[in-house]
Amino acid sequence: MDQVVVSGARPTGRQHLGNYHGALKNWLRLQNERRCFFFVADWHALTTDWASPGALEENTTEMVLDWLAVGLDPERVTVFRQSAIKEHAELYLLLGMLTPVPWLERNPTYKEQREQLQNRDLSTYGFLGYPVLQAADVLMYKAWAVPVGIDQAPHIELTREIARRFNATYRPIFPEPETLLTDTPKILGTDGRKMSKSYNNAVYLTDTPAEIEAKLSRMITDPRRARRTDPGEPTACPAYMSLHRIYDTPEELRYQEEGCRTASIGCLECKQIMIRHVQAELEPIRARRARLKPADARAALEAGNARARVVAERTMAEVREAMAS
Ligand code: SF4
Repeated sequence: MDQVVVSGARPTGRQHLGNYHGALKNWLRLQNERRCFFFVADWHALTTDWASPGALEENTTEMVLDWLAVGLDPERVTVFRQSAIKEHAELYLLLGMLTPVPWLERNPTYKEQREQLQNRDLSTYGFLGYPVLQAADVLMYKAWAVPVGIDQAPHIELTREIARRFNATYRPIFPEPETLLTDTPKILGTDGRKMSKSYNNAVYLTDTPAEIEAKLSRMITDPRRARRTDPGEPTACPAYMSLHRIYDTPEELRYQEEGCRTASIGCLECKQIMIRHVQAELEPIRARRARLKPADARAALEAGNARARVVAERTMAEVREAMAS
């Protein structure tokens, strides 16, 4: 049997370099190696943004168009929308019956996010239970593995525990998914914080060359280089530690390190090397994106929804039978 990989992303609209290096590049590799189910996690978006669902539709379309533009092939992978497969809600409900509340309360991101996102009311049942929904998303397709960054690893462990409890109580239906730890480089935004749409510091895959140039030229660097003649330290420079190290060749990095520490190059010249690489990578993506229409995203989702539904219906028939006998 093909090894199934399941992964989802909240509909955040246009994708940026953080999304690209953090998830999409990995998905592109996996689409050639495994049987992949990649989904728009629109119900997950409601676990934190339940009061403002207005942009979900547009954000879904924009995100899926970017997925197609980077090269995700909807003929090879199943690209679907979570809320279109109602079986996810049923499995979520049933798995919720057997999930102890303390398993959810010990979830590290639960506490963290409640502290960090203080402008939103996260004291909801939906937010506490979102890892159960994640378990349903993954177990529905009998995933062999889930690609995640290290911070998401506890969620997969929880999914395994839920699967184990289900299997031991009713019938062994669900394989326990492996954690496919992916090396997700931390992409910093123009202000030196993690690249994020909400920080307004992102470079988008669809930005024009002039926008990319303008944003990256003003990306913050080592503050010691206030004047052109002041030497700096690359390891204290957000541009160097993030984008330069991803895009520049070893020779270019050596040139930049030397030039920074001796002040023989300025920050603009230094960043130009990285900017050229970013422009070269995004140019073909932007060209493909320009040829895509919202109807292409809808068609990819409709085809993917149909394929996902077949699998989900089959799994739920097994689940209902196991729980009835
Ligand atoms: S010279 Fe390069 S590495 Fe040094 S602070 Fe400026 S941009 Fe960063």
